[in-house]
Amino acid sequence: MDKPVGKDPIEYAVELDLLVSPEQRYSVLEKSFGNLLGSGIPLFSVGGGIYRWVLYQVLLDFHVQRGYKPVMTPHIASAELSKVSGHYDFYKDDMYIFDIDGYEYFIKPMNCPFHVLIFANTLQRYRDIPLPFKIFEPGVVYRYELSGSIHALLRPRGFTQDDAHIFTPPEYLKDAILTVFHEMKDIYTKVFHLPFSEENIYLRLSMGDPGKLGSEFIGTVEEWANAEDALRAVAEEIKSEEDINYREEKGEAAFYGPKLDVVATLGPKEWQIGTIQFDFNLPRRFKLVELVRNVGAAEDLYMVHRAYLGSIERFLGVYLEFTKGRLPFILNPVQVAVYAIRTGTEADLAINNAVLTLRNLLTGEGIRAVAITTDKTSLGRKVRKLETTVRPSVQVFIGEKDIETGKTRVKYYVPGEGQKEKEVAFASVADLFQGVMEIIRELEASVEELTGKKYRLPVDVQYMV
Ligand code: ZN
Repeated sequence: MDKPVGKDPIEYAVELDLLVSPEQRYSVLEKSFGNLLGSGIPLFSVGGGIYRWVLYQVLLDFHVQRGYKPVMTPHIASAELSKVSGHYDFYKDDMYIFDIDGYEYFIKPMNCPFHVLIFANTLQRYRDIPLPFKIFEPGVVYRYELSGSIHALLRPRGFTQDDAHIFTPPEYLKDAILTVFHEMKDIYTKVFHLPFSEENIYLRLSMGDPGKLGSEFIGTVEEWANAEDALRAVAEEIKSEEDINYREEKGEAAFYGPKLDVVATLGPKEWQIGTIQFDFNLPRRFKLVELVRNVGAAEDLYMVHRAYLGSIERFLGVYLEFTKGRLPFILNPVQVAVYAIRTGTEADLAINNAVLTLRNLLTGEGIRAVAITTDKTSLGRKVRKLETTVRPSVQVFIGEKDIETGKTRVKYYVPGEGQKEKEVAFASVADLFQGVMEIIRELEASVEELTGKKYRLPVDVQYMV
């Protein structure tokens, strides 16, 4: 298990109100219940819901604009499906299998078999479809983890992959994988503002093991050699074009093919995040190769499995540990806090008015803003409380002097750069609103660059502060 350095990511997630604490005790009438959830099953709270829905919106737009078709697939299916895919024989120890009316079913450990069925159906029905054909889904999967190694974020038993499968003839394979690499870099740097260079990123080229063919890996020696050569050629190209190095590791492949894992050094630790996997097996096991030949679409077919964040839960844990609980503006449940610093004099009326008007103008724009009433003596305590819990990205302070001088301080957090402060001059609250929006637009800019959209989900979060 990956041991966290310093604070456990779950603590940050609970402070931010992204996650219901795994230690939460539920008191109903006189009876107090302990852990009702079971182990390794993260339950996101309302804040976590905001984080995930906004992230899904970004991912959905990002993928659709890059030619992916979004789908949604069920959580369980007949075990027969997993027998055709090979999961039943090669992945059974990680799967939950159960009985319905005397038939074996499985809870999906991967989305691939479902995406294969969707691809096969689309190809059969329309024949003339664009290849490479790309299917995307933030798919929830469940895998068996030993109780000693589970962690609600870093190693859960149920998690969500930002998963996609690319069905491609061999001639497009290299380009498809290079495109995937560039998309991954965009998500890391523009949505999450993570460093992405040879200093902190390398690729792990995870190979099969000829001695374990038939027991741990499916396919022939020749098929594996071809697949590994193809993936190595891509890794070489990434090395020369992007200066990102790769290291080969034997026996670390998926059971269906070799893979390129992205390993990032964030803070003092190394994390495997995204993955790009090459698969010659599933297209054969599901007779997709015959199908593309029959319809005259291509002579051969490969699959690429890829996830950029990998597991959305684990990525969040890694990210919170690295940023010490700071989320990017668009994903932060509490985006803006506006403080009314009251004096106990007549000036309070103008202060209150300004704060409430500003908050309303912001929420009217779809920004999740909260108003906080305080006085000079409690201000420090209230700010500290917010900065150690919901950590708003932007904080505006309005007191008597600010109203008099028409100037105020706005504190804001820029991922990768840290806390900043800016003086905003205003003749009216409408001016102040424009000044704050200017900062907000700056914080939204990198994601807007990716999809051309702003992400506003105006959930009322006032109760969180
Ligand atoms: Zn897959």
